[in-house]
Amino acid sequence: MLSTKIISEENNYHIIDRKESKDRAWISINSENLLNNVRELQKIMPLSCKLMAVVKANAYGHGSAMTASLLNKAGIFCFAVATLQEGIELRLQGIKGEILILGYTSPSLANELYEFQLTQTVIDSAHGRALIETALPLKVQIKIDTGMHRLGYAPEDIDNIMSIFKASNLRVMGVFTHLCVADSLEKEDIAFSKRQIDRFYRLVKELTLRKIQVPVHIQSTYGLLNYNKLSCDYARIGIGMYGTLSSARDKTILQPAISPVLSLHSRVALVRKVENDESIGYGRTYITEGERTVAVITIGYGDGYPRNLSEGRGQVIIKGVKVPIAGRICMDQLIVDITGVEGIHIGDIATLIGTEAEETISAGEVADEAETITNELLCRLGNRLPRMYV
Ligand SMILES: *Cc1c(COP(=O)(O)O)cnc(C)c1O
Repeated sequence: MLSTKIISEENNYHIIDRKESKDRAWISINSENLLNNVRELQKIMPLSCKLMAVVKANAYGHGSAMTASLLNKAGIFCFAVATLQEGIELRLQGIKGEILILGYTSPSLANELYEFQLTQTVIDSAHGRALIETALPLKVQIKIDTGMHRLGYAPEDIDNIMSIFKASNLRVMGVFTHLCVADSLEKEDIAFSKRQIDRFYRLVKELTLRKIQVPVHIQSTYGLLNYNKLSCDYARIGIGMYGTLSSARDKTILQPAISPVLSLHSRVALVRKVENDESIGYGRTYITEGERTVAVITIGYGDGYPRNLSEGRGQVIIKGVKVPIAGRICMDQLIVDITGVEGIHIGDIATLIGTEAEETISAGEVADEAETITNELLCRLGNRLPRMYV
């Protein structure tokens, strides 16, 4: 680890960001759960398939450098990121192994790709030609569009695909596609995924006929959970490795024993009584009926906690009791109604995602309530929150 200082603190927490602590609001990362999730997911992969750890968007909010370094120590040497910058940051933190950039990188940045030994996805034939023209020795993987119509060559575009294999400066490390409805168990969606899979393997067969043997991959988390028998060299695993599905409502064919890695906590800044028929917060959306007791919590939408959880849609756990958010969430604070809950004091911990005593608020439930998916909820948790690795 280059620029990060690790300080031991009480209850085995390690502080990553200098001088930051659990004063105001923080993310706690359970590294044991992360590594256990990796093992549980590996169990449902065919033996020859490797887990490619997807650590884009700051490892879905979990801190990409620390997450990748924990995975490196656990024997994972294959990563995926979304951008060149994310790949460079991992290398600067000393991360070893293959790092695949899933998104577009301008060929004008090919020097950086080479210098940091990053593997670039070739997103279409124009991109492929431009990467050939750089004449730099680059590692690439070829993306195939089997129906999502985002990135990739059409499988029938075999001549252009072959030109990447033939280019003397490019070394093809893999060929892959992405499923767009692998999370659904609806009949038509399963049929669509199967068509995508068939189209991909037909291309792989065409390549074999041309004497090309290359690693292939198709599945992300839901692809693995719903189609785990596919014969692939990698599975690109993001959200499942972090111990959650995209929604608490989702059903999958396999349900490995994964557990949440991230929890989100804050503190009580003050406790006060508010008289009958008074308003609380911006817009006066909450009017007290009778005397209420409220607590101000030191976290807000500026930390990435969704503002649409205002007015009772969101809850927090304090002293083992779930209490509702009162009024509108502010940028840096929010107010909860703790009427009837005894013994809440300044400095008490408020858990927004996670488990405290008998109560749990899962990322999936929060995401559903906020009308989004856990992927978005987690990756938007901001830089103001220090990440503590247990
Ligand atoms: C983000 C991403 C993944 C990981 O998806 P999860 O559902 O989080 O496992 C895999 N493949 C591609 C191409 C992605 O963009």
